[in-house]
Amino acid sequence: MIDEMKSGQQTKCTVCGSANSRQLDFTPSYGNYNLMECRDCGLRYILSDKFETLDDDSYWDEVNRQIYAMPGVLQEFKKKQFKYLNKIIKLSPPNNRFLDVGCGNGIFLNNAKLKGFDVTGIEPSSIAVDLCRQQYGYSPVLGYLDLDSDLPRDFGALSAWDVIEHVADPKDFLKICHGHLAPGGVFILETPDESSWVRKLINGIDVIKKVLKIGAASNIYYPSHRYYFTHKAMNILLINAGFTHIKIYKEHTIYSKAIAKNRLYRKFSGLQMIKYHIVYFILRTPFLWNKQVVICVKK
Ligand SMILES: [Zn+2]
Repeated sequence: MIDEMKSGQQTKCTVCGSANSRQLDFTPSYGNYNLMECRDCGLRYILSDKFETLDDDSYWDEVNRQIYAMPGVLQEFKKKQFKYLNKIIKLSPPNNRFLDVGCGNGIFLNNAKLKGFDVTGIEPSSIAVDLCRQQYGYSPVLGYLDLDSDLPRDFGALSAWDVIEHVADPKDFLKICHGHLAPGGVFILETPDESSWVRKLINGIDVIKKVLKIGAASNIYYPSHRYYFTHKAMNILLINAGFTHIKIYKEHTIYSKAIAKNRLYRKFSGLQMIKYHIVYFILRTPFLWNKQVVICVKK
């Protein structure tokens, strides 16, 4: 974990160990929140004393349940997940047993099963576990993945979609994932891509914020995330955890989900939604659509 920041002292980067960090000028509305950057590996991390926890059931409220059951959203997830499941199959995992860490309501478990995997999920939210049982008929393990868990240590494949940015210690998390894979096992993870052009653009050009009035940086740094990884930082972490054959794929967000969230949660007006449709349309162009990153590695 990041050492406690004591009155103005620098902290050591949890990825590369460098003490060469700086605090960025970003003061969002969500309170006590210091955005830091390691000048060596580019990791951005948040110093805050109140992170939302992953077992927070409030994520699975009525609106999110509705969004994760929309046919258009499910179809977009399926298309994306099948693309990466095909890549995993090409890497010849040593067996067909697949563990999805932070499986939520089970969308990925279901798609992996359709591709022939014998699936297991682990998820800290009890509401999500119940939804998974009701919607897809799977019974994920309730809790966090750790090395003392009863789960097998020889899965052929393991995934962690949008999990690593939330965990307290990404080094430990990757070592634990590594420990639950069989030799030659495939690990796939997704996280925001701090090396992406669109994130750099939002960070760098203040005019976007002023023209579009959408609070640009607040749309890419969230109170629930602790870390934002550059490709360099992610390479260091994965190599140190013992992974090889690192492949990094630039990926976009699930647009239908993002648009539905803006419409239902933020209750945007027609004009605001038109702005968002324009932003997402631009993001779909090949140069800018890589806000996320999916990384595939082998043990
Ligand atoms: Zn660093």
